[in-house]
Amino acid sequence: MTKGWQKSDWRTKPRVQMPDYLDSAALTAVEAQLAKYPPLVFAGEARRLKKQLALASEGKAFLLQGGDCAESFAEFSADNIRDTFRVMLQMAVVLTYGAKVPVIKVGRMAGQFAKPRSAPTEVIGGVEYPSYRGDIINGFDATPEARQPDPARMLQAYTQAAASLNLLRAFSTGGFADIHRVHSWTLGFAEHDKAERYRELSNRISDALDFMNAAGVNSDTAQELARVDFYTSHEALLLEYEEALCRVDSISGQNVAGSGHMIWIGDRTRQPDGAHVEFCRGVLNPIGLKCGPTTTAEDLKVLMAKLNPANEAGRLTLIARFGAGKVAEHLPRLVKAVKEEGANVVWSCDPMHGNTIKSPSGYKTRPFNAVLSEVREFFAVHKAEGTIPGGVHFEMTGKDVTECTGGLRAVTDEDLSDRYHTACDPRLNASQSLELAFLVAEELLA
Ligand code: PEP
Ligand code: MN
Repeated sequence: MTKGWQKSDWRTKPRVQMPDYLDSAALTAVEAQLAKYPPLVFAGEARRLKKQLALASEGKAFLLQGGDCAESFAEFSADNIRDTFRVMLQMAVVLTYGAKVPVIKVGRMAGQFAKPRSAPTEVIGGVEYPSYRGDIINGFDATPEARQPDPARMLQAYTQAAASLNLLRAFSTGGFADIHRVHSWTLGFAEHDKAERYRELSNRISDALDFMNAAGVNSDTAQELARVDFYTSHEALLLEYEEALCRVDSISGQNVAGSGHMIWIGDRTRQPDGAHVEFCRGVLNPIGLKCGPTTTAEDLKVLMAKLNPANEAGRLTLIARFGAGKVAEHLPRLVKAVKEEGANVVWSCDPMHGNTIKSPSGYKTRPFNAVLSEVREFFAVHKAEGTIPGGVHFEMTGKDVTECTGGLRAVTDEDLSDRYHTACDPRLNASQSLELAFLVAEELLA
């Protein structure tokens, strides 16, 4: 328990990247409403995830975290959720079968709405507007009205998160994720090299399952194989929302963020004395911390002491996001800081956020090769340092979008305009995601 901590203490600290709501009475009313609503996740689930992440910190499990950069109200549909969930199942199969490690599946889903931005305003069609900050804060449309922060959006985000989580729980335990259906997860996939590799792999899994069945494996095991644990996560950026969904766990008396199983602190909001660190340090959930090129060893030490004073394994996941060609320059000093402190952490690789560029056609994109390179560099540093690469963090979707260039079915700069649907950063499509999973499996075995 974090002694003396109150869920509202962040309000006394410097805040960045949060909106200024003009109508404070409306804000207070929304907060009061949310505070009465049920939490979306429960303390026991967050604790279970933390235990599994503790295994990842020892190399006995591997974290697969993925989903949208920003969930949006407009793109909300059962099909979108199912497709992302399905690709994550496929990726998990590739990693589990290929690298023989249990895979911890965590979606950037059911709550990933608030976005930090590099500038407070953006110019669209020659006109300057307040930046879009995610559907939980303001609207995407380029009008002054849409860009005005509106607290009522928090209620819609809560409702969408609750419905998403309801569907994810049904998919996880209601038969869809049954490993016996490993073949059917490929449906909707166009033919390509990695799809063939996936098919071969699922044939082998089916054979093994048939054998187990014939050999009379007991029904408890069959039941275990028919369901998966699937967790949710998002950046804890909008602290009014987080505070309103924070609850006291009746078993331990500790505070738990009820908005998602795992929450993370972004690269722009990790000030050691800032509001976001203050909120996150007080809740029992697993916490992610983005580490970028400007993270110093000193900062990291202070942050680890604040966020995980008891050095609990599974509590803290360090999500490295430096950019291809920069990992060898930055990761070793942070790995050294962790070693010096004897800190228990999960090291995860986000090969997306250091590799965003503007394409010649004007789209924000990420070259798939840069994504692959950063993953390889991450594994190479851990190999050289004798430390454990514990997971990966991707922006991805199960849809056949054209947002990141490259991949086996090469998306070109000209293709970007075809199916560019993200509300924020470019995502890997289903085929690129699967290709990446094969690469990660190879790296884990190397
Ligand atoms: C994100 O994960 O979408 C994000 C904004 O990342 P970062 O804080 O690492 O830039
Ligand atoms: Mn992003």
